[in-house]
Formats: sequence, C-alpha cells, structure tokens
Amino acid sequence: MVEQSVLAYNKKTVWDHLTEQEKQEVMNIAEDYKSFLARAKTERESAALVVEHAKSQGFVALDSVNSPLKPGDRIYRLVKGKSVLLAVMGERPVTEGFNAIGAHLDSPRLDLKVHPLYEDEGLALLKTHYYGGIKKYHWLALPLALHGVVYRGDGSGMEIRVGEEPGDPVFTITDLLPHLAKEQMDKKVNDAFPGETLRALCGSLPAGDAEIKNRVKENILLLLHNKYGLTEGDLVTAELELVPAIPPRDVGFDRSLVGAYGQDDRVCAYAQLVAIAGVVNPSRTAVAIFADKEEIGSVGNTGMQSSLFLDFIAELVERSTGNYNELVLRRSLSASFGLSADVNVALDPGFADTVEKDNTARLGCGLVVTKYTGARGKNGSNDAHAEFLSRVVRIFNSRNVIWQTGELGKVDQGGGGTIAYMMAAHGMDVVDCGVGLLGMHSPFEVSHKADLYMAVRGYAAFLLE
Ligand code: MN
Ligand code: MN
Repeated sequence: MVEQSVLAYNKKTVWDHLTEQEKQEVMNIAEDYKSFLARAKTERESAALVVEHAKSQGFVALDSVNSPLKPGDRIYRLVKGKSVLLAVMGERPVTEGFNAIGAHLDSPRLDLKVHPLYEDEGLALLKTHYYGGIKKYHWLALPLALHGVVYRGDGSGMEIRVGEEPGDPVFTITDLLPHLAKEQMDKKVNDAFPGETLRALCGSLPAGDAEIKNRVKENILLLLHNKYGLTEGDLVTAELELVPAIPPRDVGFDRSLVGAYGQDDRVCAYAQLVAIAGVVNPSRTAVAIFADKEEIGSVGNTGMQSSLFLDFIAELVERSTGNYNELVLRRSLSASFGLSADVNVALDPGFADTVEKDNTARLGCGLVVTKYTGARGKNGSNDAHAEFLSRVVRIFNSRNVIWQTGELGKVDQGGGGTIAYMMAAHGMDVVDCGVGLLGMHSPFEVSHKADLYMAVRGYAAFLLE
C-alpha cells in the first residue's frame, strides 16, 4: 500500500468520505433538485419557484412587513418577477455586516424576435435571437419548448408553457441532412450556423380559405387567437423563450450525475436556496441573491449591476435599526462577506488539453472555490484576497465541507466572469464558490450529485459563520 504524504495537498473524492446515510441524502437532494430544474426552465419560472419555496419555509414579503425587523425574521423580495433576494435577520445588527451568497437564475436560450412568425415554402417558422453564450449548432435537431409571458391588447397577461408535458407539441430547428452537407461541413463551426438561421418550425397546415396569402401562418394565428386570445400584434410585446424540451435525467449506470438544461447557474441557486432555508437564528444576517441577466453582463434593473442589492440591504438597515443613512449602509457593506455562487468548468477527459489539470476542478471532488476568474491577464476577475480565502476554507474545513479549487481553463485559453466583482464593488470580501459542470452552456449540462450536496453544506456553513 502506498502511504500518502501528510504534507502534500490531495484532492478528495466526496463519495469516499460519506456515511451510508449521507450517501442517501446525496441521492435525495438530487431528486428534489431535478424536480426544481424541471419546473425552473426560465428566469421567471425560477424566481417564482424560489419565492414559493421561501414562503413554505417561513419567509414573508419585505414589502408586506410593517413592524421593525428583529433577529430571526425571514424575508424575501421579488424584483420584476425575475430576481429574488432572501434574508434571515441575524442576532447581531446588520450594520455590523452580513453574509451573502449570490447566484443567477438566467441561462443561455433562444428568445423569440419581436416579429417572430413567418411562412416560407408552406412551413410556419419562428425567428429567434439567442441570449447568452451558446454554440449555435447545439440548438439544432432538438425538441424545444416555448416559455414566457404575453400581454393582450387590453393589458391582460398570461403565461405560456408549451412543450413540457408529455402530450404537448414541441418546436425544432431542423438541420441539413449529411448527404447534402458537404459545404456546411467544410465551414468553420461559427460560420456554418449563422444566428439568422436559428428558426424553429411551428406548423404546416393551411387555413381553410385558399384565397388567403400565407395560409399556414394565418392558421397559426387562428390557433393562437382561439387558444390564447392573441393577435400577431400581441407577440410584439411578449417575452417568449425557446428552451430544450428535455427533462432532467440521471446520467450513468450508477446514477451519480444529473444531466439537464440550465444548471448554470440553477445548481448553485438551488443549493443556496436550500442552504438559507435551513438557517435559523444566525449570528450575522444571512442573505441570498438570485440575480437575472448574468449571461448578458448583469445589466438591466434585475441584473447584479443594478441597485437591487443595495436597495435590499438599505431596507434591512432601515427596518431593523430605524437609522438608515448612507454611511451606515456603506459600513455595513464593507464589513460583509460574500460568496459568488456560480459554476466552474470540471475536467472533461475529452477536452483535457483546454485546462491545466493541477488547477482544474473534478466532478465529485466537492464544492469548487475559485480565487479568480477572468480572461487573459485575469481581466474582469474579482481575485479574492488571501486573508478572505483562508477564512472561507477554514469555515469549510471546520464543518466537514469537502471542497476543491478551480480555474476556468488554461491561462491563454479564454475565460469568463461572474457577479463576484459586482458584489465586491460595494466593499465586501467575495470569492467565487460553486459547482463544477461538464458541457456548460449546452442544452444538457452535467453535474455531480455529491458536489451539489457539498454546495448545500458549504453555503450553509458560510451563512452560519
Ligand atoms: Mn453562471
Ligand atoms: Mn454562464
């Protein structure tokens, strides 16, 4: 038997360190997680589910609370139906700082254009505009579901969700048959699939009247009118998204992995939701941020660059101390700690040459702590301070959280960013900390159930410290 050095740093495989009962918990949490993913396919649906779960765990809407906030109070705020903030008030005043975790609820997808519906060669099609960083060819030859909201001319709105139930129709972007694809196959991938060609098939039957132009499109409009009371003009103001119509599944003979759309970043969002729901009477106030629009730069009034986070903290300060002013708020923020809960790349043996193996996360080796993200010379990275990083890993070690480090690819390979630097901009200490994925940003991302389990445990440990 080979003895391991006691001085060397060794990555741990989570499964080796779990009791039988913990292994069962890993599988149980993954079942709940898959149910969450099956219902949370868009940012709106995710936000609604976060609120639903929070309410069931005793959180009440901040804007419905009239009395001062006191230790132990559990509150939430839903922003424009797309972002959510949760807090459990601490024993110590929020003005002495709080612990916050931030994930995002949006995922790459195909949005319908403002004028989406048209007819070509007897087929009805939907024009799309992709959202976030996708490999366009992933979205061909795939069953797609349509999700979103539509408002009629009279201002009444409704939710649309077609393609998720077993009997539902789906939509699809057809690909060229290989027999005729010589030119396509000779092109660079980026050139072979122009964004304008991502058009989803949505019908082929003509309307009854042979005199009508574009009879197939007309028939779709008739169906939309009969079923939803919509006109073509109502599509202009709608927000409709095409997402993979694939339910979350176990992957592997041993069922150790979860395959599903939207795990960036709903795996971290789900873990922090479970973690904060389990926090009772914390010493410092615990905060969870579920942000929107991360995939397009955290812009807009539901994104992390907006005032939504500061607005929420300002409310906590005012409603718990009755003594809000900007200086008190700033002191609170700069005395606070944060985790940016976002996914990182896990080593994929098929693409091992894009990462540096000593510094890349592995599936099943625990929660991934990422000191810095960014591209090239750490551009756009938060790059956590040694003091804070050390504090976080000591918290994890003291609570049996199995963690590892991660890096987003080789130095010159590319890179990416998270909301970490936006949290840190308020003066908080922040480090990236999330779950490793294979196939990130694809329609079927893969996570490890034991990593999800350690994320829940790690986030809870951080919030309670
Ligand atoms: Mn992400
Ligand atoms: Mn992403």
